[in-house]
Amino acid sequence: MATMEKVFANYTERRQILESSTNPFSKGLAWISGTLFPISEANIPILDQGFLRGDLTYDVPGVWDGRFFRLDSHLTRLEASCQKMRLQLPIPRGKLKQTLISMVSKSGIRDVFVEIIVTRGLKGVRGTKPEELVSNLYILILPFIWAMEPVMQRTGGSAIIARTVRRIPPDCFDPTVKNLQWGDFTRGMHEARDRSADYPFLTDGDANLTEGSGFNIVIVKDGVMYTPERGVLEGVTRQSVFDVAKKNGVEVRCEHIPVELAYQCDEIFMCTTAGGIMPITVLDGEPVNGGKIGLITKMIWDGYWAMHYDPAYSFEVEYDDSCSKAKARL
Ligand SMILES: *Cc1c(COP(=O)(O)O)cnc(C)c1O
Repeated sequence: MATMEKVFANYTERRQILESSTNPFSKGLAWISGTLFPISEANIPILDQGFLRGDLTYDVPGVWDGRFFRLDSHLTRLEASCQKMRLQLPIPRGKLKQTLISMVSKSGIRDVFVEIIVTRGLKGVRGTKPEELVSNLYILILPFIWAMEPVMQRTGGSAIIARTVRRIPPDCFDPTVKNLQWGDFTRGMHEARDRSADYPFLTDGDANLTEGSGFNIVIVKDGVMYTPERGVLEGVTRQSVFDVAKKNGVEVRCEHIPVELAYQCDEIFMCTTAGGIMPITVLDGEPVNGGKIGLITKMIWDGYWAMHYDPAYSFEVEYDDSCSKAKARL
């Protein structure tokens, strides 16, 4: 069983080993046009439309304890996102996969935040023929990033239902394309801070929940889990939540979720690759479940981390020890 104490204790130990590593890539590395750079030396060309226009899509798979988790699901979503945005993956999927594995291997990092960005490239859409457009690819490998730090996951975070901003509607930007047009989320995060909370939940403007700044939202009421079907990214972590729920015989409904349900529910959690299952125990200043993490959230949390060791969902990276003198545990 993957209990919270065990998962985090082992992670802390790996993190300490990483911090004493002499590998030049142990703080992260980047792939830009086929060249690898230590993360602090990586730069983007200033004329890239990803920078000038936010014209890009991206995806974030993760590696946990030296194992890639659901990488194929992330690559499939990335390909779909590229297609929806008329971007082209500059290298074939198989080569991309091999590059990711090799980068993680070289970095020696065991718990990794992997970011793959595909931009429009150096020429914008305006006035350019489609055949002149060449997408650019960027890959970042960084030590694991937490949307909710482990210490907060132990007791739960606080969220607000944003009042000053709504989620960008699906007919303005397709939210099933993972994107960095974060204007709405950024406003939501400012509002959360103003209202002394950690996270914003955005509505669709019609009193239904959507999602928050980089995470999906799951509500538990009377033993049933609810998550919004529209106006959200179809998260890979959300899929894992569905899988754990199914295994444990818990019903999940993916449908329109009125905000009202969040105020009446028994449990709330958020989910994303960068952080996993993140309990929310305070909503709009009021305790949820008496301010305690609920049993279904705990069950999903444990099941989610246990999946990371299941070969059906993950595979081991063979680390390239030649990059590191701190071989012993890496
Ligand atoms: C990345 C992201 C999520 C979570 O997706 P995962 O595949 O679970 O990591 C949810 N919402 C938004 C807006 C995101 O960018």
